[in-house]
Amino acid sequence: MKLNKKYALSANEGTYALAKRDIIVAHSTATPNGEAGAIAHNMKVGINTAQTYVHLVVDYKECYLVGGLGYVAWGSGYYGNQLSPMQIELCEFTNKSQAKKAYRNYIGLIREYAQKYGIPLTLDTNAKRGVETHNWVTHNLGNADHSDPYGQHWY
Ligand SMILES: [Zn+2]
Repeated sequence: MKLNKKYALSANEGTYALAKRDIIVAHSTATPNGEAGAIAHNMKVGINTAQTYVHLVVDYKECYLVGGLGYVAWGSGYYGNQLSPMQIELCEFTNKSQAKKAYRNYIGLIREYAQKYGIPLTLDTNAKRGVETHNWVTHNLGNADHSDPYGQHWY
């Protein structure tokens, strides 16, 4: 999937330390019907206040790049951030077909980047490397308190 770079951080924004290539962090926004462009825009303009951003934000039609791929992002607490070259937000939709398309795009990107970084396609296991949810990071690495993408019920 082609990445829209309209809200990509510039060189003086965020962290430009290389992340370890251990985990992909899977998030979801918990902002029902918030499209990827709006979420990515909020990350970009809030960089110095909210200080929260991930690498990719995906919905049913596009994917925005925010943080530089391969570099530390500020999405899942200090420990998770250091280990993840790609953290991704799934946008949630009450419309079922939009939700399904967004989810399909999300899984496609997770697979693509896991492969690119040599990260195993396992989900939330006890292994040190793999695809992990933000919830897993909260419970296994700490310095985080979110449980997404679990426990949400917009669709
Ligand atoms: Zn999250």
